[in-house]
Amino acid sequence: MTTTIPARSLAVEGDIGVLTLSYPPVNALSQVMREAIVEGMREANANPAVKAIVLICDGRTFLAGADITEFGKPPKAPSLREAQDQIEGASKPVIAAIHGTALGGGLEVALCCHYRVAVPSAKCGLPEVHLGLLPGAGGTQRLPRIVGVEKALDMILNGSHVPARKCLEMGLVDALVPEGELRAGAIAFARTVLAEGRPLRRVRDNDDKLLAARAHPEIFAKVRQDNARKFRGFPAPEANIQCIEAAVNLSFDEGLATERRLFTELVAGTPSIAQRYAFFAERKATKIPDVPDDTPTARVAKVGIIGAGTMGGGIAMNFANVGIPVVLVETQQAALDRGLAVVRKNYENSAKRGRFTTEQVEQRMDLLTGSLQMEALADCDLVIEAVFENMAVKKEIFGKLDRICKPGAVLATNTSALDVNEIASAATSRPEAVVGMHFFSPANVMKLLEVVRGAKTSATALATAMQIAKKIGKVAAVSGVCPGFIGNRILAARSAQAQAMVLEGAMPWDIDQVLYDFGLPMGPFAMSDLAGLDIGWSKETSKGATIRERLCEMDRRGQKNGAGYYDYAVVDGTRTAQPSEVTRGIIRDLMGEQGKVARAIGKEEILERCVYAMVNEGAKILDEGIAIRASDIDVVWVNGYGWPVYRGGPMFYADTVGLPTVVARLQAYGDRMGPGFTLSPLLERMAAEGKSFTR
Ligand code: NAD
Repeated sequence: MTTTIPARSLAVEGDIGVLTLSYPPVNALSQVMREAIVEGMREANANPAVKAIVLICDGRTFLAGADITEFGKPPKAPSLREAQDQIEGASKPVIAAIHGTALGGGLEVALCCHYRVAVPSAKCGLPEVHLGLLPGAGGTQRLPRIVGVEKALDMILNGSHVPARKCLEMGLVDALVPEGELRAGAIAFARTVLAEGRPLRRVRDNDDKLLAARAHPEIFAKVRQDNARKFRGFPAPEANIQCIEAAVNLSFDEGLATERRLFTELVAGTPSIAQRYAFFAERKATKIPDVPDDTPTARVAKVGIIGAGTMGGGIAMNFANVGIPVVLVETQQAALDRGLAVVRKNYENSAKRGRFTTEQVEQRMDLLTGSLQMEALADCDLVIEAVFENMAVKKEIFGKLDRICKPGAVLATNTSALDVNEIASAATSRPEAVVGMHFFSPANVMKLLEVVRGAKTSATALATAMQIAKKIGKVAAVSGVCPGFIGNRILAARSAQAQAMVLEGAMPWDIDQVLYDFGLPMGPFAMSDLAGLDIGWSKETSKGATIRERLCEMDRRGQKNGAGYYDYAVVDGTRTAQPSEVTRGIIRDLMGEQGKVARAIGKEEILERCVYAMVNEGAKILDEGIAIRASDIDVVWVNGYGWPVYRGGPMFYADTVGLPTVVARLQAYGDRMGPGFTLSPLLERMAAEGKSFTR
């Protein structure tokens, strides 16, 4: 074996040449790896003793895919295409031997081999759509030729990682070989190919699987229609579909040309740049400058959760899902029973949808125990408090936890906005053990976890929270302590503008529509209706001073009772929101009382005031050190609030608009932004200096 990196070696075993490639950690298809493939294939092709070639990788995986740091940069020879041509054009059968994952470029190389074998644990996929791209090395042309158009659409549009057994069923791999015996299994398969005189099967030459779709072009219209909601705003799914249509309707080479053209367009476009940025931003968010990767963490073998309400139950599911036992503490048996029943129902619904078996439902439920005694938390390594949003209640609980929990336990609060420092220092003798773990609702579904670092939170408590977040599959971002932390503080800045504009003449549904069209799943008023208008509202203290207070006083509490900012009616079995005359009347009355006259507010003003106010708040958050980096703010908004990932996040979006424009527009709106609004000095400075947040 040569000592260059990447390493390649050709071992000749009888009449089989085994070309082994090694480029830790994941055998990425960087320029050096492409070179290794070209050279290795040349050597194997030229060796007269070799009658068939096995292409196999060292380490934990097959070729893992393109090196995405090379995207958008000038190509370095040899291209992936050249490496693929060496394989596909070989004069001897080439067999890909797959373990780990063959994703993206990795699978596209495997598709150029004449046969593919895999171990059962291997997975194949073309996940480029997740980065706003398409498989640009023939994947869109070869995959439909081997698995058929419908399966290819499904695999490519979902970017799914398909297990080897399923690949075998689809014909994507030709044989499974026993786990741990890939090399020997692939050699044996190669010998069979030779013994049976099987042909050099080039995927590109086989149109059989395309014929069905040629006769049924409507499958493309159907896939567009079925996924309209999911694909909204993303250019990549449409480009992927067009490539597969090209595979069906054009020659292989013309299809490849279409794929190349659309790939080039996507890779240079803002949506894909934003999606790739978001991908790296998530990874960066796990890095905390003064908490190195090797910081000791607590081993979390048992978790305690206080409160089995909306959040507590959902949070518990995250841990049961990964096999960690949870004890749920409530004050009343009825509340506990109700909480556990909701969890069971959620699991059973997932089982009905085929996500897992009924046996797995029971396994998960067995990991959850309930208690009415805080003492049951004594041996927990991590305790998460999820009771009512009330400082006095939270302090009382943390006081008890301080007395009950074992030394070294991490004590977390799921508060949405309360002062974590006050909870930590006023209620416990171990503020270093206290951290915020702010889950989003529904907690078993939403990806984001805001990890709130208190003034005294220890590196170990913080690192433990970050580590466990990863374990339960969350995307974590660190926030300092301030009202609302990163996410809700920015939400509040947006709400202030939305509320103000309603009293200037825009209707709630006008504002919601603009933000929906921008790419958010819903606007602020629809969101309030969904969450419940009465959160934090009480009859006793309500003064009828705001639209929301008046709506609540009229018992319009949002979707849950069929009326809020909107009227809700069930049409054809689905709940639809209609603009409400009642809300219109309340707005008119309030404006009259405040002596305000309605003016026409354009879509541009709605969007700019809402979104630039968010950017401005983000800049303040950054300036105050609440967020470590601008990209963390984007991670929060993409993963916790549905900000369209093809726009990167509020801070990335500001950069695409240009900070001088953002500042100029905010200044132009002037007093309209409201008395509570001040321009962020950091934003102003960065705009003046020609800087950007995320590039
Ligand atoms: P909830 O009212 O649904 O649940 C709270 C539960 O805590 C109730 O079941 C209650 O019986 C129980 N409880 C109250 N005092 C208790 C005590 N002393 N000991 C044990 N149990 C007690 O509330 P929720 O929506 O789940 O919110 C819980 C926390 O999560 C709040 O701090 C809230 O701000 C935060 N949060 C909520 C959301 C959301 O969307 N609902 C999102 C993020 C964070």
